[in-house]
Amino acid sequence: MTTSPLHLYVHVPFCVHKCPYCDFNSHVREAPDWDAYGQALKTELEGWSRHPAFAGRRLSTVFFGGGTPSLAPPSLISELLEAADRLFGLEADAEITMEANPGASEAARFAHCRAAGVNRLSLGVQSFSDAELAWLERVHDARQAEDAYAQARAAGFANVNLDLIYGLPGQTMGDWLESLERAIALAPEHLSCYQLTVEPHTQLAVRHHRRPLPLPDDETALAFLHRTRERLREAGFVAYEISNHARPGHHCRHNDGYWRYHDYIGIGAGAAGKWDVTATLAAKDNAECGGAARYANLRSPEGYVAAIRQSGRAVLARETLDASTAMAEAAWLGLRRADGISRAAFRQRFGVDPAARFRDPFENWRARGCLSISREAIALTPSGVGLADAVAASLFQSLDEANEAESKSS
Ligand code: SF4
Repeated sequence: MTTSPLHLYVHVPFCVHKCPYCDFNSHVREAPDWDAYGQALKTELEGWSRHPAFAGRRLSTVFFGGGTPSLAPPSLISELLEAADRLFGLEADAEITMEANPGASEAARFAHCRAAGVNRLSLGVQSFSDAELAWLERVHDARQAEDAYAQARAAGFANVNLDLIYGLPGQTMGDWLESLERAIALAPEHLSCYQLTVEPHTQLAVRHHRRPLPLPDDETALAFLHRTRERLREAGFVAYEISNHARPGHHCRHNDGYWRYHDYIGIGAGAAGKWDVTATLAAKDNAECGGAARYANLRSPEGYVAAIRQSGRAVLARETLDASTAMAEAAWLGLRRADGISRAAFRQRFGVDPAARFRDPFENWRARGCLSISREAIALTPSGVGLADAVAASLFQSLDEANEAESKSS
């Protein structure tokens, strides 16, 4: 049986308003049918508990993401945690996160969720400027964000993250640093700082297409990234991932599991899951060892509930990655971590050293000063952090070249 930690993601797809930049699977519903959705989540979870890749494994983390999970009745959160514990078993120190939005949460709910076992809260603050919040069409202002933070503390949350966005049209470095300082002043354990991106099929993409927004160019965006990391380092945070900063010991173990290429179950509309196929392979399939299987659920909440009622599953797409593709994916994700790719963990999972497997692209980036390769790990250097996407692309390109060479020789 696989011994690496197992993670559970629970998607709650409802929001009170669709933010124009949002490409998450979130839907505005006046009165979501929480009973039906909650029942479907429990049925799906039960189904996955019998899957050979997951059966008998305990959960290291649970993450309620959205959408806006803080809109859900707290009883739904506690029932799901009870089901997760009964079906899998939660590790004694399991990290249990819930996302919440200021303006879509209240103190009593926070207290109930804390009592149910949620021990980490992630608040979607995005900015402390009311003008920026209005442009982002958030349903809260800066004062409500601070109130929600105070309510989270009053409810007993000792591990709180704030999500912030920078790189808004016309935003100056000074504007951004003002928001960042207000976030630091609250003394959260964790800060996630993401650059605003125009994602396809969003309202923002339509507006940008009609009339280009004055978004920062690459050089300016990189300056925002580096200044953010510098300021948060001064304030005692560790940048353990490109966009994620934590006080020592408070990194998000759930998200870190994705970057470490652990297995995870996703339940809910649009949720995805992934597992190492090695443990479920017959000996004769050894060639596929190290590969990964993954699935994604139907995105519509109503379609999801109907499919679960009908068959107990709501999988829209499934895919098996061969070992080479899984290796490139694991390397790409590992490079997002400040500690980089653990060579020992990679060898254990894939039976090959990553420095050998991706020798040419890694040597190329190392020669340019963007990558450090030690006995233990392969990691982006400070000057390579802004080039993570380009480094990742080179890994997949090296795969394509190897496949092409192989097909020519055969
Ligand atoms: S609150 Fe979050 S999930 Fe909901 S629409 Fe806005 S960005 Fe998307």
